[in-house]
Amino acid sequence: MERPLNPDVLLQDRPPSPLREVRDERFERHGVRLLLKRDDLVHPELPGNKWRKLAPNLRAAVDGRYRGLVTFGGAYSNHLRATAAAGRLLGLATTGIVRGDELAGRPLNASLARCAADGMRLHFVPRSAYRRKGEPGAARQLIAAAGAAGAYPVPEGGSNALALHGCAELGRELRGASDVVAVACGTGGTLAGLAAGLAPGQRALGVPVLAGGFLAAEIRSLQEQAFGGPAGDWSLAEGFDHGGYARVPAALEAFAADFEDRHGLPVERIYVAKLLWALTELAATGAFPAGASVTAVVTGRPTDPEPAGPLARTA
Ligand SMILES: *Cc1c(COP(=O)(O)O)cnc(C)c1O
Repeated sequence: MERPLNPDVLLQDRPPSPLREVRDERFERHGVRLLLKRDDLVHPELPGNKWRKLAPNLRAAVDGRYRGLVTFGGAYSNHLRATAAAGRLLGLATTGIVRGDELAGRPLNASLARCAADGMRLHFVPRSAYRRKGEPGAARQLIAAAGAAGAYPVPEGGSNALALHGCAELGRELRGASDVVAVACGTGGTLAGLAAGLAPGQRALGVPVLAGGFLAAEIRSLQEQAFGGPAGDWSLAEGFDHGGYARVPAALEAFAADFEDRHGLPVERIYVAKLLWALTELAATGAFPAGASVTAVVTGRPTDPEPAGPLARTA
């Protein structure tokens, strides 16, 4: 393992990520301005909201002298990968509790292989047990069974009260930037924090990448934990999950590749592509009034060279 970093190098405040306006006729036609907040450039190994959510937790783990980190995720989780990278950089042991014990006997996919290469110990659990991790005591049992009882626990997706405070900083960076600030949602933690940091009159819009309908309640509960009550003006645009988490149908793949060509930025497919598709669709159907400005938060970037194209991601 390489020499651990001084934590301050990883965890200190960073300059605001770049914000730029792009010209896109699909928005201009409706009098809407589109801006891109390049949070994918925040940190090379902990891009975007993963750095914003993890940094305050890593600080707490370092200050609390925990020996390691333990967290939860699915086989394609960007959060698991970011946690593994953070552990390597800070010299903290990491354990990842992974959904699906059927994966234990198979070769690791590129994402999990990256986690393992960063030194993360992977502990596969049955989906039924994984699902119960929200129940009182269940997470603790899973952590103990994974042999990580003394480690600093980070919830699935990294969304806890500290993480929301990290994401509120993203909102503060965008004060006055646009009328609407839009972000793709997994756990909703990023949206919940972002909304709290925006100025009055600005609206946060979340695009869930998985179907379910439970997200609004989850966001209210996260805001209650972090801020003691509702914070900011936010709403969700449902119906843009394209069949579920990590599904990338051919039409979405084509849209994302075209967006990359038009605007010269790498488009992460699991979250960012669905956000940009949703905004393009909403603009086309007149959901934004003429004269409005919309910022899309580019929360991450494609990390692994995905070997077999879209099908590999939907497996
Ligand atoms: C994890 C992730 C998200 C989802 O963030 P939540 O706070 O869980 O809603 C969005 N975009 C990218 C690129 C991610 O990796």
